[in-house]
Amino acid sequence: MPDDLYQRYMAAHRANQAHSDACTTCTAATRCPDGQRVYERFARLQDAYLKRQRDQRRR
Ligand SMILES: [Zn+2]
Repeated sequence: MPDDLYQRYMAAHRANQAHSDACTTCTAATRCPDGQRVYERFARLQDAYLKRQRDQRRR
């Protein structure tokens, strides 16, 4: 069974990484609007993924 959440989490991670590598506006402290969008998507998926990891371990 393909792990869809993990795939999306990884894709968002790569997109976030690619953006911060390519963008000259973003720094560790401030993000451009595009970078902010990419980062928020990554953060949401990371939260969801880590939460699922915790839930699975509890079973
Ligand atoms: Zn940026």
